[in-house]
Amino acid sequence: MKNPLLVFNQNGIYCPKAKIYIDAWKPVDKVIISHAHADHSKYGHQHYLTHPNSVPIVKHRLGNINIESKEWGEKFAINGVQFSLHPAGHIIGSSQVRVEYKGDVWVYSGDYKRENDGISTPFEPVKCNTFITECTFGLPAFNWKKQEIVINEINDFWKECKANNQTAVLFAYSLGKAQRLIANLNLEIGKIYTHGAVENLNEVIRTYKNLPKTYRITRETKKEDLIGNLVIAPPSTHGSPWLKKMVPYVTSSSSGWMTFRGNRRRRAIDRGFVLSDHVDWKDLIQTIEDTEAKNIVCTHGYKDIFSKYLNENGYNSFIENTPFQEEEIIENNV
Ligand SMILES: [Zn+2]
Repeated sequence: MKNPLLVFNQNGIYCPKAKIYIDAWKPVDKVIISHAHADHSKYGHQHYLTHPNSVPIVKHRLGNINIESKEWGEKFAINGVQFSLHPAGHIIGSSQVRVEYKGDVWVYSGDYKRENDGISTPFEPVKCNTFITECTFGLPAFNWKKQEIVINEINDFWKECKANNQTAVLFAYSLGKAQRLIANLNLEIGKIYTHGAVENLNEVIRTYKNLPKTYRITRETKKEDLIGNLVIAPPSTHGSPWLKKMVPYVTSSSSGWMTFRGNRRRRAIDRGFVLSDHVDWKDLIQTIEDTEAKNIVCTHGYKDIFSKYLNENGYNSFIENTPFQEEEIIENNV
């Protein structure tokens, strides 16, 4: 491609005409942040720009940084290049970045999913010539059930634990998945208790978004308080002494990786629920059709397989390497 609007260099995704990066992985002067997950919003940039719903979370994580915000669909120009953010439906505040110069339109997806999760603003397809897509779950084996069905499965698991006088422990990434579960689970069954890492983010998000009440687990929390209730904790707490207070407990995980039973067994988790904040195979393909893009850049995940599939199906697709990963992989370092 001649003079591409966006290039991938050693620092991140760069727009040479506007001299601004998107989701830079090394410290740069100006950066647009797609969402507040740690691999996309790094420390050390001079100027940050993101959606207002991401600002409090990015500040909570990175401290007192120089940050401005733009609403979804609000156009802004830098050196003649027009930019706008559009909902990505991945976590609260997550955005796609649209870049236009002289009629050439590129869209960077960031991380995204198509189903309305009840807490993130739902994904909106944006027409473009070139679409940069994640491929975290870019294999036909990844085929998500509707959220309502999976939430009911988790509610049933919780009821079962309660009937057996056990604590239901549910591992979920602390930003995004945890709040999605809290917003959707049935609180008539009992109370939701949270690990500090989850509750710290809940407190930040509650300053601008309604989220049902949850209870922080502290030194004072007693085993009896937890029995029959549900505990949401980051996957990294699995196997840690922190869990001892929950005995007798049953562990569970909610992740796209639970598609493969071997993952649940290998991690010694009692129950697995397939719930992901990324698109599955069918939604990846649907999204590419919806964007009407002919050039597809595949980034993190099963990018080789997915890019090959696209090239065999009439698209001009190529691969770019980024350090982005699925959230649970980052946390568990697997
Ligand atoms: Zn993410």
